[in-house]
Parts: sequence; structure tokens; C-alpha cells
Amino acid sequence: MDNKIGTSFRTSQILKKERFKMSKSLGQNFLVDQNTLRKIAEAAELNGEELVVEIGPGVGSLTQILTEQAGQVVAVELDQRLIPILEEQFVQTTNLKIIQGDALKLDFVSLLTQFPDYKEVKLVANLPYYISTPLIMKLLTEKVLWERLVIMVQKEVAERLTANPGSKEYGQLSVLVQYRVQTDYLFTVPPTVFIPQPKVNSAVIRLIPWKVPPVRVKNEELFFKVVKSAFAQRRKNLRNNLASLQQFGGDKQEVEKFLTQLGIDPNRRGETLSLEEFSRIANALN
Ligand code: SAM
Repeated sequence: MDNKIGTSFRTSQILKKERFKMSKSLGQNFLVDQNTLRKIAEAAELNGEELVVEIGPGVGSLTQILTEQAGQVVAVELDQRLIPILEEQFVQTTNLKIIQGDALKLDFVSLLTQFPDYKEVKLVANLPYYISTPLIMKLLTEKVLWERLVIMVQKEVAERLTANPGSKEYGQLSVLVQYRVQTDYLFTVPPTVFIPQPKVNSAVIRLIPWKVPPVRVKNEELFFKVVKSAFAQRRKNLRNNLASLQQFGGDKQEVEKFLTQLGIDPNRRGETLSLEEFSRIANALN
């Protein structure tokens, strides 16, 4: 008998047997398509020797494929009601640790010290959409050396995270994330592969931390401030937006002079600037 959790038959059966009521507010949309699950695992390039952290295992459809292919899996689930269900599904699985907790509050560094034998750490998750942006920012600023992160998010968020300068999706989030990781949009996932079906499309993206930083930033805090102010009002140009930085004290002519000297047209908008141009501005202000 097929024992795959990630099918609509098995997942519905588990939910029915446990009389489980899905929580919309926890972003519970369970994946019930083996093809999509296989593609996510493929993107993680599992080699049987790594530690994989999964956020939000739900009833375990992705967890199952991860435990089959990774060295060790640590799954963090917020919903207490799912813990006994997961424990029952994986009673015979020896390379899975289930943790009840909030991924937004978890100290990943100390969690990983419990597994000193694993040199390589990956994160694979079908994220609850309501926390995806703050969680990604947390994961990327945590002092964990992820080999990669393969995550499913709302398609719109995936587009913003992977956007190139000049596109309408490119914004503050794109710059802040792409400063830390190489981003790739892998594939789109339709609502039909979930129970219940979400209202929006989803997409799987891959984030790989840069081995060598893509740009040299002298003062990160200042770099982030510059990026934030460049996008403060999307329709305004750099001359207007950057004037609000403390260094310019509202003086637009000063901004104009400063940018012209750097070889950046003050009439451009933040959404057209590359990482290199943002770092050039921040480094010159430092
Ligand atoms: N991985 C499963 C799948 O693909 O079918 C479930 C994915 S579902 C989109 C998101 C899961 O994250 C739910 O099980 C939900 O309870 C859990 N979750 C929601 N908020 C969380 C949080 N702050 N920390 C950890 N898990 C959370």
C-alpha cells in the first residue's frame, strides 16, 4: 500500500481520523502532490549526510520525503495539536526530531548545537505565508551558515525576493535579501496541489548565501538606512528620497551634488539601483 502522506487521500484520511480542524490563521495549507514535493526535495540536493531544518511540517508530507533523503531532520511546528499526529506518523523514523515552537522566536544557533555531527545545514520549508517575510529575514541574519534554503512562499513574495533592478517587483526586500544570498525563482505552484486550496499562487525559491559578499559595504547599518530611504516613497526620485537622510538634513541640492559626483543620476528612482550602486552611495556617506 502506498504510504505517502502527501496525497490528497492520505492527508484527508489523517485529518479526518484525528478530527483536525485546519487553522487559517496559522497558514495551514497542506501539500498533497508528490510531484511538487519531489521537485522541492530535488532543489535541496539532499545527499544523506546533512541536517535539514523544516519549518511548519503540518501532517508531515514534506517531512516524509526529507527524512528519506537527508541525514537528519529537525521539524519545528507551532501548532501543538499537530505534534501527536506527527509523532504517530513518524514513530519508526529514527532521523527526525520534532520540536513544538514558534520559528519566529527560535534560537536556531543553540538548536543546531544539539547536532554537532552535521557539517552541512539546509533549510527546506513550505512556509506559512503570514510569517514568510519576517522569518526569511530572521533566518538570513541568524548566525547559521545555511548551505541553502529552499522555500515555498506566496508567488508575489517570491517575485519580490528574486527581482532584478528596474522591474516593478524590485524593492527594499529584494536588495536586503540579495545582499546576503543569491536568489533563484525555481517554479510556480498552483493552488490545486493544497488542502485547502489557497487563494493565491505559490512559488519555490532557492537562496544560497554568498561565499564572497557581492559588494563591499563599509557600514551595514548605514547601507540599510540608504536602501530604506531610497524606497521610502516609490514614485519619488533619489534626490527627494535621500534628502531625508540625516547626512543631508533635507537639502536636495546637496543630494544632487553628492550623487552627481558618484556618477549616479539624481533623477533615478531607488527601484533602478543595483546593489553595487547602493553600496557606492552608502560607502561614500560613511
Ligand atoms: N509542510 C506542510 C506541507 O507542506 O503540507 C505544512 C505547510 S503549511 C503551509 C504551514 C505550517 O506551518 C502549518 O503546519 C502551521 O501550523 C505551521 N506554522 C505556522 N506558524 C508557525 C510558526 N510561527 N512556527 C512554526 N510553524 C508554524
